[in-house]
Amino acid sequence: MEIYVLVKQVPDPEAMIKVKSDTELEIENKYFTSYFDEVAIEAGLKLKEKFGGKVTVLTVDNRRVDALRRGISMGADEALQITDPALEGSDPFAIARTLSAYLKEKSFDLILAGRQAMDDDAGIVGPAVAECLGIPHIHSIIGLEVDDQKKEAKVVREVENGRENLTCPLPALFTCQKGLNTPRIPLVMNVMKAMKAQIKKVDLASLNLKPADVGSQAAQIKVQRYLLPPKRPPVKIIKEDFPENVKTLVKLLREEAKAI
Ligand SMILES: Cc1cc2nc3c(=O)[nH]c(=O)nc-3n(C[C@H](O)[C@H](O)[C@H](O)COP(=O)(O)OP(=O)(O)OC[C@H]3O[C@@H](n4cnc5c(N)ncnc54)[C@H](O)[C@@H]3O)c2cc1C
Repeated sequence: MEIYVLVKQVPDPEAMIKVKSDTELEIENKYFTSYFDEVAIEAGLKLKEKFGGKVTVLTVDNRRVDALRRGISMGADEALQITDPALEGSDPFAIARTLSAYLKEKSFDLILAGRQAMDDDAGIVGPAVAECLGIPHIHSIIGLEVDDQKKEAKVVREVENGRENLTCPLPALFTCQKGLNTPRIPLVMNVMKAMKAQIKKVDLASLNLKPADVGSQAAQIKVQRYLLPPKRPPVKIIKEDFPENVKTLVKLLREEAKAI
């Protein structure tokens, strides 16, 4: 099977993030692969182990390629970075347009993506790539079985109060949800090898895209302003003993918090 996995590098949850200006964040240089993308890589590798073929990890990023190296260390065969200065200011649709411009020239059975990136959380890129390519798409899957002969997939999705079992012809794009699998932890030796692996680079011109098709010129979604969450009020400690403290708590919940 020919499988492509879309991966994005996101800030580590422990990285310091400051609001630099209304539309700019200052992010400490600590990045890791978005968790749902690791689930997608694992799903691709499991299919390769069963049916043979190739897993390629693919990112649009002008700076970082650690997510690609992580994919290689887990077992992906190839890594590709789409990079071009004109991509600066891109919104999710521009990223999807760029990815699909590359993928439409390739033959593949399956594209896997994360259900959402763990920083921007839009959940747009996967479905938008499928729309651009005109292939079926199923969002947020927690089960996947492929019949390579019939070129068909059976997938499971969690829905409110239950599960949905679906079948879908291939090629298709699925976005992967926690619970589909447990991503493998790469061996140290493979991590070292991945550090030296060759990352293929592709620019916009080779995809027949013009700067005006992507980046800030094409952005339909623009950040107007970043705001910090409002400061939480200080904690109130009730010093009385039982049962007076319960009466005070109920009074506070009723009169101050208006929660009951
Ligand atoms: C070069 C560049 C410049 C950017 N400039 C700006 C900017 O100026 N202002 C701003 O607000 N944002 C900017 N972005 C961020 C960009 O808009 C978002 O990263 C992108 O739209 C994806 O949205 P999301 O993170 O919410 O992904 P989601 O839609 O939540 O991602 C879902 C899944 O899609 C796949 N995916 C997402 N992003 C990528 C990617 N880059 N490559 C491969 N697969 C991917 C992953 O599988 C991911 O799990 C820039 C991004 C890039 C790459």
